[in-house]
This record gives sequence, C-alpha cells and structure tokens, in this order.
Amino acid sequence: MALITVGLIAIMIVMTYFLAQRVARLSRTTTIILELIEAVIVAASVLILRQTFWVLNGGNVLSWGYAIAQLMILLFSLYAMHNFAVTLVNLFIPLFFYSQALYLGASPQRWWVFALALAILFSVILYISHQQALALDSEWRFLLLQLLYAFAWCMVIWSVRPFHLFYTVNVLVVFIIYMWLIRFFVTRVNRVINHFARLDQAANYDELTGVRNRANFDTTTVGVFGVYRQHPTTPITMAMFDIDHFKQFNDDYGHLTGDAVLKHVAHHFNEELTRQTNNGELFRYGGEEFVIIFKDTSPTDAQHIVTSIRDTLQQHPVKINNTQLVVTVSIGISALQADDVDFNSWFKRVDHYLYLAKEAGRDRITVEGDTREFQ
Ligand code: GH3
Ligand code: MG
Ligand code: MG
Repeated sequence: MALITVGLIAIMIVMTYFLAQRVARLSRTTTIILELIEAVIVAASVLILRQTFWVLNGGNVLSWGYAIAQLMILLFSLYAMHNFAVTLVNLFIPLFFYSQALYLGASPQRWWVFALALAILFSVILYISHQQALALDSEWRFLLLQLLYAFAWCMVIWSVRPFHLFYTVNVLVVFIIYMWLIRFFVTRVNRVINHFARLDQAANYDELTGVRNRANFDTTTVGVFGVYRQHPTTPITMAMFDIDHFKQFNDDYGHLTGDAVLKHVAHHFNEELTRQTNNGELFRYGGEEFVIIFKDTSPTDAQHIVTSIRDTLQQHPVKINNTQLVVTVSIGISALQADDVDFNSWFKRVDHYLYLAKEAGRDRITVEGDTREFQ
C-alpha cells in the first residue's frame, strides 16, 4: 500500500517537474492543455489507488490505510501542482464520495455534518491552492491546514459511515507523519523547479528589458526557418527596428535614462504585440535593436501592426523627472522568400531595409525595399 502511494506520488513529482519546465515557454492554450493533463494524472492516481485497494482487500475499499493514501495523493497534488484544474479535482472528490455513498444506501441523516465538513474542506483547499508557498513556509500553518484537512475528511466519511472517535485520532496522527515527509519532498521539488525556471529565464530572456534575448532568437529562428522552408505557401515576416539617435539619450541624460528608454520601448512593443496578435515574438537582438518574428503573417499585415505600435509609442513618451522624451524608431520589414538559401540571406535583407529607412532620414519604415514616412 505504502509502496503504491509513494510510487504514484513519485510519478506526480516527475510529471509536475516535466510540465513545469514546459509551461514556462508555451502559449496560453498549450498551458491549459498541460494543466488539464495534470488534473487527469491526479484523478487517475486516485482511481488507480482505489482499484489497487479493491483488489488487495478482496473487493472492499473500506480501509483507513486506503483513506490516508487517498488524502495524501490529493493534498500532495494541491501543494505540488499549481493549477486550477487540480483544485477542481480536489473540490469534486468529496462531493463524489458523498453522493456515491448515498447511492450505495448510506443514510443522508447527518447531512449537516457533511455540509459543515465540506465548508471547512473547501476553505482549506482554496487557501492552499492560492497560497502554496505561504502554506509550505510555516510549519505551524502547514500543521494546522493538515489537521483541518484530515479532520474535515474524517467528518465527511463519518457523515455517511459513522465510526469510533478513536479512529479519527489514529488517522490524524498517521496522516500528519506522512504529510510531514511529503512536505520535505515538495519543498525540495519546488526548489528544483524554481531553479530551472530561473536558469531558463537567465538563458533566454534579456535582463534589462525582460524580452527574449539574442540566444533565444538564434535557437527560435533555426526552428522557424526549417519549418517555413517546408511550407512555402505560409508567409513568415521579420521586422527589425532600431531606436533613432539612441546614443543621444545616453549622452544628454546619462546611461540610466538610456536604460529607461530601452525598457520603455521594449515593454511597449511587447505589450502591444501580445494585445494585437498571437503570432508575433519580440527579441532584443542587441543594444537598441529589436527583431519581431511574425508567423503566418504577410509583410503588409506586419507593417500595419508595427506601424500602429509605433504610433502609440509616439503618444506615450518616456517620462524622466519632469521631462518627456519622445522616441522614434526606424523599421525594416521583409518576408522569407523561396530563394533565401539560409536564414542569413533573409536576415541581411531585413537589416538592409532597416538601413534604408535610416538613410532616408530615420523615423521611417522600409517594407520589401519600399521606404515610407509614417503618416
Ligand atoms: P541611429 O539612429 O543611427 O541608430 O543612432 P544611434 O545613436 O541610435 O546608434 P549608435 O549605434 O550610434 O548608438 C547606439 C548606442 O546604444 C551606443 C551604446 O552605447 C548604446 N547602448 C547599447 N546598449 C545599451 C544599453 O543596454 N543601455 C544603454 N543605456 N545604452 C546602450
Ligand atoms: Mg539606433
Ligand atoms: Mg543600432
């Protein structure tokens, strides 16, 4: 029994760790799918445990060992998995347990005990799922939450299958010892996951602006170039922009102000880009130069998006003390073409278009060789 529970918890640890690593980089839809997978893993673990006890106990699941194992799996999932679907599974199981017991002939006479227990259980579950770190941090809070959780569950069971008070004490003691061990593992697993999340952040995101960095650009573009070369009918567009006379901000107001301008421009583009499209990814290529890769987007559509972002940037100058600094950018845009032999030939063309926009007087955009002023 203990082995199976520990085995299931180990599987959940591995899956949580594996999913947590991926969730950091994926889109909203994929994140939701992965969270649902986690919830299914929890529900499946509960079922596997039930089936195993059923077999071991010759068709009977009325055992305290079984109850404790179930509670451990459920409470562990709340602490280790940070997602709403898992919380829903936790909220659903006591309701399922109660209705199943009634269905199998238990008396609804003590419904008020169930209602009270459910209120306590739901409060504890919602508290833990919203305050995992806080709940794990303090030993006393963890102990109190566990006691409330196990006690509420005992009341849920008692409301349909009355038992002697002695068992409650027994369950609470055993459960608390086991959960103490689990806390030990969960805090370590969380530490490892956070460590990897920090490494991932440091390796792929720019420290100053928070947008994707050059290293991430290099790996992303290798991937997209390969994929889009195989589907020449799907457009992919690259836009490169560079802040005009940026050196002047550094020279006139100091490097810290220069940094603030960079952050402002990067945040503005990043936020507007996320608001306007699902297909644009912003990278800081270096210094005050940024690149956006627009998947499934024509150069004309990409031009509309960056132009509108550029327009709103003009309306939101950087505020430094009492001065307002208006920032302008020059932009080059080009789509991947069939005769681009490698990524570099595409990149060089976009870079050249950016240069043309600069040469023509800055605060301009060059789309496929055609340079224009902004309206
Ligand atoms: P242009 O319109 O031709 O692009 O002129 P520019 O002044 O923007 O371009 P230039 O290449 O002459 O200068 C870029 C400056 O950006 C030089 C460099 O010191 C500064 N810079 C690069 N990275 C950073 C940074 O992270 N923070 C700050 N404050 N300055 C940076
Ligand atoms: Mg510049
Ligand atoms: Mg530059």
